[in-house]
Amino acid sequence: MDQPTNYVTRSDLGWPSTSGGNSATPRSGLVVHYDSSDQNLANKPHADCLTYWRNTRSFHMGPQRGWADVGYSWLSCSHGYVIEGRGLGREQAAQPGGNRTHYSVTLATGPNDAITDDQINAVRELRRWLMDDHGNAGTVLGHRDFTATSCPGDRAYRMVQDGTFTGAPGAITSEGDEEMLGLSRGDKGARVESLQTSLRHAGFADLLGPYGPREDGVDGDYGQGTEDAVLAARQYVGSGASSGASVSGPAAAQIRRAVVKRDIERALDGLDLTEGAC
Ligand SMILES: [Zn+2]
Ligand SMILES: [Zn+2]
Repeated sequence: MDQPTNYVTRSDLGWPSTSGGNSATPRSGLVVHYDSSDQNLANKPHADCLTYWRNTRSFHMGPQRGWADVGYSWLSCSHGYVIEGRGLGREQAAQPGGNRTHYSVTLATGPNDAITDDQINAVRELRRWLMDDHGNAGTVLGHRDFTATSCPGDRAYRMVQDGTFTGAPGAITSEGDEEMLGLSRGDKGARVESLQTSLRHAGFADLLGPYGPREDGVDGDYGQGTEDAVLAARQYVGSGASSGASVSGPAAAQIRRAVVKRDIERALDGLDLTEGAC
């Protein structure tokens, strides 16, 4: 396929056309990275991604690192853009041991940041392009496959392992959102059961529980317990909402985020995290 749909070049960024690094022909695969601290870029305008990328380059070229350019080949941002770093045909300063054999892409997400569907799709498009037009094998690895590091974070690494990034490019529909969208107090049926299952996964089974005939509170009836759990899930991800009586678009997105956030909390629980450069 052609270069990724939303592709930002070095020239778009006002950078010289190639980095100062050595030329190389990475053919073995693509390595996923993250940022060791949360950036919350999924909830910020895309312009902030460009600012982040410029700052990253300045840091990598500054006194602390002293590299020829930003360390990575590309950034895949929350809004679905592939943004050039060193770009094609360049050795990187990203994953020692694989800087000439593999390309690198950072998600710029921290340990608790959401990884968006658009972002996943951008990585898929990048991989497909490297395979089709640039002789790359397309194997997707995480930075931690090369060295002891938390990078690319547990959530992204699970995606590396379960094949999320090697899927075919194309719009990823958020079926969970579609299903719960528009539900409100008094509704009954399978869609309510699906909503309640998400709320359970987000950690609010205790709120659902007392009101349903089944122990897990998944009874397909949008009553007081479901209303309380919807509100709790929204507030858990920082929403200032004051009612859980219906599921608007933002509410659906927040419930999905709550499931992801809880998932990460469970995964990190008990782990001794040592952050390093990513
Ligand atoms: Zn962006
Ligand atoms: Zn890394």
